[in-house]
Amino acid sequence: MNDSKYIYLDNAATTPMDPKVIEEVNIHFRETYGNSSSLHSVGQKAGQILLKSRETIASLINAKRDDIYFTSSGTEADNIAIFGVTSKNKERGNHIITTSIEHHAVENPLKELETRGFKVTFLPVDKYGLINTKDLENAITKKTILISIMYANNEIGTIEPIKEIGAIAKKHDIIFHTDAVQAFGKIPIDVYDMNIDLLSASAHKLYGPKGVGILYIYNKGIRNGWGKYIEPIMYGGGHEKNMRPSTVNVPGIAGFAKAVEIAKEEMPKEIQRETKMRDKIITWILENIEDSFLNGHPTQRLPNNINLGFKYIEGESIVLDLDAEGIATSTGSACSSESLEPSHVLLAIGLKPEESHGSLRVSLGRFTTEEDIDYFLEKLPHVIERLREISPLKKEVN
Ligand code: PLP
Repeated sequence: MNDSKYIYLDNAATTPMDPKVIEEVNIHFRETYGNSSSLHSVGQKAGQILLKSRETIASLINAKRDDIYFTSSGTEADNIAIFGVTSKNKERGNHIITTSIEHHAVENPLKELETRGFKVTFLPVDKYGLINTKDLENAITKKTILISIMYANNEIGTIEPIKEIGAIAKKHDIIFHTDAVQAFGKIPIDVYDMNIDLLSASAHKLYGPKGVGILYIYNKGIRNGWGKYIEPIMYGGGHEKNMRPSTVNVPGIAGFAKAVEIAKEEMPKEIQRETKMRDKIITWILENIEDSFLNGHPTQRLPNNINLGFKYIEGESIVLDLDAEGIATSTGSACSSESLEPSHVLLAIGLKPEESHGSLRVSLGRFTTEEDIDYFLEKLPHVIERLREISPLKKEVN
């Protein structure tokens, strides 16, 4: 690794904490050590910080303060949404609809539910990673109790038609959960306008601390005609209105709120800036590196996501060679990049296994500069060329 320069282009895996967030978290680790459930003044102070943080975080998605429930992660929020709704409503039905490109934090709980007698429809996606809302409507049965569709995909950045999905869920009176971990703080979200009942998000994707997430639960879990539509999956103390017991991580949550405050302020500017850099990278690579192709939608994608395929070579080798040049990238989801199985997302958009192995995800962030991009574009062609020279796959073709 080149010590003088290290460029971080893996912001979809996790982001570095904003220095202002670090400062905020540190203040609260020092000063707000009370248990937010305690009656004494130190506890009450922690309670106040919690209330204020809930308010700030809710405002980002036009939610009510009391509909925000703190969790330890996006994964935990997804699990509470999925197991909490299905276990509460198993008398109503046993059918769930999702997509074939969900993050493992949604896909694996649903696979577990299949072993417990639930039926899950994994909707296909088109070559861009978009679901067809007609397929969704056709999949609905009298037994459907939950639709769980991600807001934006973590590997290819495709943004799903969430408002249309919410309208369909509302029309058929089905609970709608969206895993918004990649979209939260990056693009505008309005839970009322989009008829979202449950939404998961995670602080570490928007320059906040790791180990803090939220689950938004519409109307504190009460729905007309359903009554209580979700129940807890863990039992303990009465924290988070009995939905998520455990002493609340007030310093981490205060950091999450700070990260949200900054994201709100920066979002319009950042969307423009990152979209411009994203499109510059995509255009340059497609024009200058032969046998390269774009994965995901050309425009309906997160401003910070680039996912490109390079024929005849392995994504893992590109990542390692770029790392040696001082650039951090990824082959796809950080959580699955240790596995050498082809990405289920890339297979779902129609790539052959050998094509999916040659994919590279580059994810930009608020601290990415034009100079970083130019450095990356200077190094990448050499890496690709070098790897293709030694590639047995390339030799087979030649
Ligand atoms: N959902 C999506 C779409 C993600 O990208 C991730 C993280 O990569 C998660 C869920 C899991 O979030 P966390 O790391 O907070 O558990």
